Amino acid sequence: MSLATSDPQPETWQRLYAGAITDPRELLQMLELPQSLLPAAADAGRSFPLRVPRGFVELMEPGNPRDPLLLQVLPQAEERHPPGPGFVTDPVGDEAAMAAPGVLQKYAGRALFIATGACAINCRYCFRRHFPYDQANAGVASWEPAMAALRQREDITELILSGGDPLVLGNRRLRMLGDLLRTVPHVRRLRIHTRLPVVLPERVDEGLLDCLTGLAQRCVMVLHINHPREIGHGLLRAASRLRERGITLLNQAVLLRGVNDDADTLTSLCEGGFDGGILPYYLHALDPVAGGEHFLVPDRRARRIAEELRRRLPGYLVPTLVREVPGQPCKTPLTTGAHD
Ligand SMILES: *Cc1c(COP(=O)(O)O)cnc(C)c1O
Ligand code: SF4
Repeated sequence: MSLATSDPQPETWQRLYAGAITDPRELLQMLELPQSLLPAAADAGRSFPLRVPRGFVELMEPGNPRDPLLLQVLPQAEERHPPGPGFVTDPVGDEAAMAAPGVLQKYAGRALFIATGACAINCRYCFRRHFPYDQANAGVASWEPAMAALRQREDITELILSGGDPLVLGNRRLRMLGDLLRTVPHVRRLRIHTRLPVVLPERVDEGLLDCLTGLAQRCVMVLHINHPREIGHGLLRAASRLRERGITLLNQAVLLRGVNDDADTLTSLCEGGFDGGILPYYLHALDPVAGGEHFLVPDRRARRIAEELRRRLPGYLVPTLVREVPGQPCKTPLTTGAHD
């Protein structure tokens, strides 16, 4: 990442980004966890390293090796087990759907732009662990050609910034992207998929808020919060500032065994999100990524949890349980009922 070239003086969030914990020994010490967890963490971290911002670690419970936030970031021995059937390195077929450098189009009306391959955190279940996003992402030089391709496609009304995490880009780069988007008037919405307001809420600074307010498009931000304990003061403050600027906030969670695979946890997540002005969007079944299998929640159990949520919560607080199936024209709902 060449953050230094996008913003000559690092902003506060950029220092925090650079200071993320990458040494499993340090993480275990901070959380008062036994160093006996170290060999497995070091081994599994070799192919996809540990990375977690310090502020996110502060939301974890010291002394608890099963902490639901910790499990999302600490490399585990199971990652090294041979992958089961169907667990692959490109579970969502991205390598086949690359329309132009950095531009993926799989669904009608929406194009996804991989603005950067970098991310502030390494979630163990992420398919980034294998996909060569660092080569696939559009460096600034290819932004203009990507916009030129979009200008030809009047059917595309929404651009989705994804990654990696697009908010890893500095404000100057995001402004540049916003300016380029003014040349594509048929794109009416800019959607930003990001976990930064959750794991590094300092990212939501004045510069970002100004940049988002200055967009020609309506802005939707889809956060990625998996567990109610991820909703800390930093996120709540960031969410309220974003909402003040008229940005719609949604959440998608990934259903993860041992992290959030029960109706109580997900109920608190949906209600806690709403308290912060964030509506549930999707509950994603795990992408079958090699190394992530220990997070798998079987479909039957996933459907049962979803049914329980529907019973407990008002309709507008129930996320849609979906999975991404390569080649399908939209996310595939895991409908409840008939199939089991
Ligand atoms: C998930 C995804 C979208 C967005 O789908 P929605 O159902 O609109 O949230 C768009 N493009 C690609 C390539 C995707 O993977
Ligand atoms: S925040 Fe998203 S892109 Fe980044 S590692 Fe986690 S799942 Fe992957």
